[in-house]
This record gives sequence, structure tokens and C-alpha cells, in this order.
Amino acid sequence: MHYYDSANVQTSAEVYRLPASVKPQHYEIRLEPDLKNFTFSGEETVAIEVYEPVNEIQLNALELTIDEVSLSRDSHKLSGKAELDEVNERAILSFDTKVEPGRWSLRIKFRGILNDKLHGFYRSQYKDPAGQTHTIATTQFEATDARRAIPCWDEPAAKATFKLTLVVDQNLAAISNTAIESEKPAANGKKEVTFRQTIRMSTYLLAFVVGEFKATDPVDVAGTPLRVWYVPGKEALTRYGQEVGAFSLNFFANYYGIKYPGDKLDLIAIPDFAAGAMENLGAITFRETALLVDEKTASRAELERVADVVSHENAHMWFGDLVTMQWWNGIWLNEAFATFMEMLAVDAWKPHWERWVSFGLSRGAAMAVDGLNSTRSIEYPVHSPSDAGGMFDVLTYEKGASVLRMLEQYLGAEEFRKGISRYLREHEYGNAETGDLWDALEESSHQPVRRMMDTWIFQPGFPIISVEKGSDGRSIKLSQKRFLYLREPGKGTEQWHVPLMIKAATDKGVSEHKLLLTSAEAALQLPGNLKWVLVNQGGSGFYRVRYSSDLLAGVTAALDQLSPIERFGVVSDTWAAVVAGLAPLKEFFAMAAKFRNETDLNVWRAILGGFAYLDTVVDEQHRPAMQAEVRRLLTPALERLGWEPKPGESELQSQLRGSLIGALGTQGEDPQVQARARELYAKYRNAPGSVDNNLVPAIIAIVAHTGSEADYKEFKEKFKTARTPQDEQRYLYALADFRRPELLRDAMQMTLNGEVRTQNAPYLMMELMMNTECRYEAWAFLKQNWDKMAAAYPENAIPRMCGGVTSLVDQQPDVDQFFKTHKVKQGGKTIEQHLERLRVAVAFKQREIAPAPADLGLK
Ligand SMILES: [Zn+2]
Repeated sequence: MHYYDSANVQTSAEVYRLPASVKPQHYEIRLEPDLKNFTFSGEETVAIEVYEPVNEIQLNALELTIDEVSLSRDSHKLSGKAELDEVNERAILSFDTKVEPGRWSLRIKFRGILNDKLHGFYRSQYKDPAGQTHTIATTQFEATDARRAIPCWDEPAAKATFKLTLVVDQNLAAISNTAIESEKPAANGKKEVTFRQTIRMSTYLLAFVVGEFKATDPVDVAGTPLRVWYVPGKEALTRYGQEVGAFSLNFFANYYGIKYPGDKLDLIAIPDFAAGAMENLGAITFRETALLVDEKTASRAELERVADVVSHENAHMWFGDLVTMQWWNGIWLNEAFATFMEMLAVDAWKPHWERWVSFGLSRGAAMAVDGLNSTRSIEYPVHSPSDAGGMFDVLTYEKGASVLRMLEQYLGAEEFRKGISRYLREHEYGNAETGDLWDALEESSHQPVRRMMDTWIFQPGFPIISVEKGSDGRSIKLSQKRFLYLREPGKGTEQWHVPLMIKAATDKGVSEHKLLLTSAEAALQLPGNLKWVLVNQGGSGFYRVRYSSDLLAGVTAALDQLSPIERFGVVSDTWAAVVAGLAPLKEFFAMAAKFRNETDLNVWRAILGGFAYLDTVVDEQHRPAMQAEVRRLLTPALERLGWEPKPGESELQSQLRGSLIGALGTQGEDPQVQARARELYAKYRNAPGSVDNNLVPAIIAIVAHTGSEADYKEFKEKFKTARTPQDEQRYLYALADFRRPELLRDAMQMTLNGEVRTQNAPYLMMELMMNTECRYEAWAFLKQNWDKMAAAYPENAIPRMCGGVTSLVDQQPDVDQFFKTHKVKQGGKTIEQHLERLRVAVAFKQREIAPAPADLGLK
């Protein structure tokens, strides 16, 4: 096993770290933003501790002008000057004389710009119903952009307390991490708003927002007032976010056994926002779709998104904010944990959503990347700020959360919870590293947590577990090997400590077994003669399972004895084996046919996911055979379910109906379904409440798929005048689902002509690259406009946009060539992964997509 060498990392990361000779204790900050000229001026007094005599003081600053610097202690005052080191994003302050150790007060006056790049202190704009433009000034500091707003020690371990004053126009609201302490009139008709002192925290968690915001009345959550803030006109969309916010805040206080660390909690919907949301202590910022929603018209998936994101950010108030990673290599634990906790909270809030079953899709998305040679270990060296930016990916969030879930299920939920609570109490107001969490969990569970988790955290990839029947018929043989889509010689020798949960049926009945596989192979004795066996019982293991053909036949004959997540696993593992070349495509078709009677939404999603992949890879000549197969498989399932919602049916059933209709009307090209979807759309357009919310996304997708120019114009207009963020998003991305080249060309233009916010444009571009009608033209468009896009879009969105290249199966060499000469900032390993996924798809196509449609294995 190759462990991560922390000694090595320290040395190379050194150049990005500030000297340890000076540390901040407390910041007093005064800022005055100018929303007309998009600038701000500020001054700060920082109480610092100097540990050894220094000639200069270094701290982070970027895109700031520093006008005055001085240092004082008692009556002693040193005046200084600042030099900016742009490459290292620092200000180097020097003074008349050497600075002696002890406590000093550092005063800096500075100026900066309210940028439009959605990071640092930035501006966001929106139009009111009368068409008038309004400007907001807001912040996004994670990972390393606080330095664009204030000169500061912008490292997670440099925790300090903050006291902020904002000078703003009388009519504007000012929001920050803590409650307002005082408000008084200031010069030029402005007001001066001072906030209470924060807890000891990292700079990346600081936030301030200024604009014509309105707030809901607070709800009281065990003494904490919780409000939702929004731009005027959106009050009707706040109730749901506030409700889940209150539920989850309470849930976490109980789970952690620690009171919420802030004095109030504001959830703020920002019209332009690069990420989904940001866990600023006490002042969480969101993109509007992640907080504001009309529960009367939204689909269940859209409601779930709000519930997930709000819970995720609330989970961070303790895990991340109260206890923070030492350095950015620990970001995975922060995000993995919040993702895990978001599931736990939403599952407790709406058990009938079966959130842990649908989490199977997220786990699968992580495995799709982690099965690549170009994957990385979860904990990964982070040196520079853009390395830190590259960490916000599916491996950090979804793989990280999956391995925590696997651990929780193995240790037991209560043992796990106790360990978490212990860890937070031991490190509150401070910083910690991954090993500290394992120590706390070992102490609470008395299990070798660190040894096991090290194999998951410090190694890239995951295993595939092969299962065979023992020759005595009363045992099974298990072996592990790294799962790889493309096997390179000499690679993939890693081994894991795999917590296996197994369900076996023998002539003595059904038995359950728990086994920690720590070597290449193991055998498990069973109480009787084996009938069938399921490995990965409960579905929380982060591994694939490959059964011998007799055992696969056995388990697929016993589907009625498996839970939905277990059936999901059987389908998902088979599909992964097909893409990796471990099983032929016809095995997947044969498997899918056994699921004709399936009723679970997520199991169907696993099956439909396989067909969607095929849709991208096959040539035009194969498409009719594929479409016929989709119809053959899905039509009976839809007939059983019917088009009309049944009284008392679960939300998951109505969502399944939407998924089946959507797939039949697009991938299946079913003319009857298409005609009926159009009728429903006409009805919906006249009376929005007349069609089940969970059918609407499907019928919109079908109308786009079969759409005319008139439909396109109508969707574009609906995007621009949408009443809710969800509608806006729905109609926007539907524009990329049309099929007529001239319409798709217009959608391409929209990614750059200002009609679409830069927070969304890269994702529209990605969708266009995945539309089989225009993907190569979209690719040409992207290449041609690359520099413009790189200049206009938020940095973190560019690598995600490039995910569209995974569907360019007929131009793989050109894609490879392009990225040799075009480097992506914040790309981390993401671009390399996209390129390998494309190679996987090309290899799959060469292997499986035979010249004649009949050879696909379809009837
Ligand atoms: Zn997070």
C-alpha cells in the first residue's frame, strides 16, 4: 500500500503558507461598499501575536490596494508600508524598525473592487418586475478568497474572532455572521451597522451581504432565531427552506449533543452564486434554487434538493465551523461528513423519501470516477489555492460520504454518533485532522477504525469482490481486486479492509454475516447448503460485487427477497461490469428483462442509467433497436402504474411514473407517449396545478425533445419570466434538449451573450455537448469560444462544464489534443478524469457495439 507521505507535503506546501511567526487573534473591520461604482473601502485593526523578532509581517491580500499601514503597542507606534506579491497573493508589510515579540495592534487601510466573478467580495444583480436593475454586494470566501476583501491570515488554522462594521445606504439591509449589536446614522445619509463579535473561526467562514433584502419572521429553534432572506417579491418561496432549516438545526444539536455555536441563523438566497451554498457561520448563502421553492408546484426532486442543501450547510455549523480542518487537504472530511449528515437529517425528516436508497445513485456517480486510473485518493495533497479549488468534487463529497456511511453501518449508528460527538467536543473552536476523528471513533467503538479507514482514505479506487460457491456447497469464496474500467499492466494491486455484510439462503433458512476482509481472499462457512447469496447486504458498501454465473442466476431468481437498495446494487454492479469489459452487454439486457415487474424508483433509475449511456455511445443505425428495447421494457411498467396518480400512492411512485414517461418519450421515441405528453403540457400551460408536479419535468423534456421553433421560443420566454428558481432552471436547461440544429445554435449563443447568468451558462454548455444531435457542433463552439468562457465564467464551473466531453465518442483524439494545450485552473484531476471516461466509452463502443444491430444482443 502506498500511504500519503505527509512529511513530503509539508515541504512543498510551505511556499503557500504564511510564516508562523505572527498570528492574528482578533479583527475589527470596517467596510464601506459602493454599489454604484462597484468598489469598496475598508480599514481593519488586527490584534496580532508576534512570536519572534521579525523584519516584516506577511499576510494574504489579492486585488486590494493598501493605502496605510501601522503597528502600535501601548504608546509605541511604528509606521509601515505594504508591498503586494501578486503571485503568492500576499501583502508584505515592513516597518521602521524590527518588530519585537508580543501583542501588537496592526492597522491597515485598503480599497478593493466588487468583482463579477462570484468570489471574494462581489456584486450580484437582478431585475425587479418593472425591469429595473438592482445591485447586491455579497461574499464567497471558501476556499481562499477572503483575501480579496480584507488583508488577512487566510488559512483555516489561523482562527480568530471578528467584529465587523458595515457602512451602507439607509435603505439597504446588512447581514453578517452574528446579530446586529448597534445601528447608527453615518455621514452622507448612510448608516453604520455593527455586528456582535463572532466566535473564534476561520476567515473562509466570514460573510457579509448588503442589498435590498427582505427577511421572514424568525422561527425560534431552541433559542436560535432562524430567518430566510430574499430579494423583494420572493417571500412566497421561503416557507419550505425555513421549515427544513429549523428541523435540521434541531436535529444536529441533538445528534452532536452540542448547542448551536452562533447567536442567530440567517439563510440568504443570492441571485448569482457560483456553488450551491456556503456554510458561513450564522449567515449561510445559497443559490436561489437551493433555498427558495414553491412547494405547491415543485417536483419531489426539486424539494429534495432544497432539503439536502439546507441540511448540509446546517451540519457544517458544527462540523467545519466549530471544528475546522487544519489545512485544505482535510477538506474532504468536512464535505464528506456534511454530505453524510445531510442524508441522515433528510431521512429523519421524510423517511418515506427513502433517502438512503436514492443515495445509491450518488455512490454510483462516485464509483464511476473512482474506477478510473486517473482517480485520486480521498485525502490528497493540497498545496496551492487552485489545488484547494480542485478538491470540491464527487470524490470528496460522494465517495467521502459513502465510506463514512459504510463505517457507520459497520460500527453501529449509536457508536458512530458517540465518536462524532466526542471528536467535536475535544476540538471545538479549534482545528483537527482526519486521524483525530478515527481516534475518537476508536475510543467510542473499540474497533480498529484507523487501520480500516486508512485503506479507503489514502488509496485511490475501490475493490470489486468476486464471489464463488465453495466446492462443499456450504461455503462461499470471496476475493478482492481493484475495480478498473481500463486495466493498465502492473497497476491496481491495492487491497482494502472491506467490511462485508452478507445475506445467505441455505436449506436451513436465511442467515446474515458480517466479515472484515483484510486480505486478497477469504472463505465464509454457511450453516447449510447454499441456495443463493447476496454480498453487500443493506447496500452501503463502497465496492462492486461480481458473482459467478450460477450465483448470479441464484440471486436474480430471489429478487423478491432483496430490499430496493440491494436490487439496485445487483443492477448497478452488472452495468459497471459491462462497461469495464468484465461482462458482455447482453448480460445487462438479460438482467434488465428480469426486472420487468420492478416497482422501485431507484432500481428503475439504475436500469435507465444503463440505457442512457448506450444512447450516447451507439451509432444512428443502432438507435431503432435500442428504442424498441426501451419500449419493450418500460411500457408494461407504465401500464401497471397508469398515467393518473392513484389516491394515497407514495411520492416515489409518482416520481417513477415521471421517469418512465420521460424515458419512453425521449430514449424510447414512443409516439403515443409523446402525443399524450404534449396534451398534458397544453393542459399544464393553461392551468399549472392541473398536472401532477412529478410529471412536469418529464413532459417538458418530451416537448423539448420533439419541439418546434414555436416551442423553443415559448420555453425561452418562460425561462426569462419564471416565477420560481426551479421553473427558471427547468426551462433553461430544456433548451439544450431540443433537436433542431438552428434552435440548438441559438442556445449555444445564449451561453455567452448575457441572456444566461454566468452561474448557469457553463452548465447549459455542458448539456449541449451531451445532446447527441449537436454535440460535435457544441464542441466546436466551445473550442472557438474557450478564452471568452474562461474569462466570463466562475472558475469552479469550468472543469464541470468540461464534463460534456465524455460524450464525444467520435472525436476522442481531438478532445485529448485540445486539453494538451488548454490548461484549466481549478481543474485538479477532473479534466484528466473526463478524458479517461471518454476513453472508457470509446473502448466500450469498440468492444460491444457490433456492426449489425442484431448483434447488440437485442431481439
Ligand atoms: Zn459543504
